[in-house]
Amino acid sequence: MEDSYIENQYNLIKEYYNKFLKDKNVKLPKLKSKKGYTKGALILVFLSQNYPNTRKYTKTELTKFIKEYYPEVNDVQQARHLGAQSGWYIISGTRNDTCSDELKHGEYQLVTLETNYPGFTGEKRLDCINNDYWETLKASYNYRCATCGSKEGEPNLHWPNTITKLQKGHMNPNKPLIEGNVIPQCEKCNRPDENYWIYDKKGRVVKIANPIIIDKCSLEIQKEIYSRLYKKFNGKNPTDI
Ligand SMILES: [Zn+2]
Repeated sequence: MEDSYIENQYNLIKEYYNKFLKDKNVKLPKLKSKKGYTKGALILVFLSQNYPNTRKYTKTELTKFIKEYYPEVNDVQQARHLGAQSGWYIISGTRNDTCSDELKHGEYQLVTLETNYPGFTGEKRLDCINNDYWETLKASYNYRCATCGSKEGEPNLHWPNTITKLQKGHMNPNKPLIEGNVIPQCEKCNRPDENYWIYDKKGRVVKIANPIIIDKCSLEIQKEIYSRLYKKFNGKNPTDI
């Protein structure tokens, strides 16, 4: 795909975004990062070809396209995330939703750029936490963020221009957000990229929740992790464990 096409198409998406989606809290991926085009932008450009007459694409077609920019990618998960987590109206045959009747397993389609994904509010997924439980929990933390100590209604300790609003922080993001797995956190500590970590009740990071974080470590730490795991699994191939 030509760079000029990608850029024009992204600008078109951006126009729709500013007009219809921005105030619905839909998240627009940046066109480029240091590594070049972002996967999110590429997927939106790909799926929006010929807009508004979009068509279905198979995961294979999408992966083939993304591989031209990210050869290491074998499985494109972002298309689903762009729907459920970022709010774009992309339906997929892999998700169990009512909109996907016409799509087969592994197919994606951008339905429209004029409205958000059905049910998307821009807030975290609905949780099953009882309001009384939440109020009692916050009180037990003296209305402070478990991680940084910022107090509800007061300026954030590290971002003085932000007034602290406590949110339901996920202690272990790999488990559902239910009572016992929640701590109060300010919006700065409860950012989506903090889903890399598992916290204890005191708001301290205690474990890794998402191995992607290892990609961000120095080569030295990566080697150390690798040699620990190599020893632990006797040098077996990961698929044989
Ligand atoms: Zn905080």
